[in-house]
Amino acid sequence: METRGRRFDEIPHTSLHEHGFSINAIKTWRKQKFDAGRPSRLEDFYRVHGLCFDCRCTGARMVGWDEEVPLWITCSTCQGTGAAESAKWQTWLVLDAIRRLPDSFGIADVEQLCPEVTVGLIRVLLIGLKTKGQLTSEVTEFGDVWRKRDSSL
Ligand SMILES: [Zn+2]
Repeated sequence: METRGRRFDEIPHTSLHEHGFSINAIKTWRKQKFDAGRPSRLEDFYRVHGLCFDCRCTGARMVGWDEEVPLWITCSTCQGTGAAESAKWQTWLVLDAIRRLPDSFGIADVEQLCPEVTVGLIRVLLIGLKTKGQLTSEVTEFGDVWRKRDSSL
């Protein structure tokens, strides 16, 4: 694991938006849970949605500065995927589903093969695989098309 920081664009990273969530969605979720007397901290949102809280699901952690520019390293908790540790068994199900699918597929195909996993988390995991260079994705008129780049998938 590298310890010296690099510029954000030089390391694999992702974002809340890329995982299919927004600041407004978090605010709405937290208010609903708070009003219902349920756990409603920011941390609870990340946990429930299978997102890494240590890096706020960016896959990167800031470690210092180079003059005015912040420096980052890959998050050691999620290895840059932005997915939480608690998402491991779902990760296994999703990987198994991908191996059974043809070289290009859509999120709905994965959903059909593993109905236990929420579509939000499937998206998180697919983006994690893309971050690691194992998948590519493309937006088409039929929705996002995912393609395998790695022969282990
Ligand atoms: Zn992380």
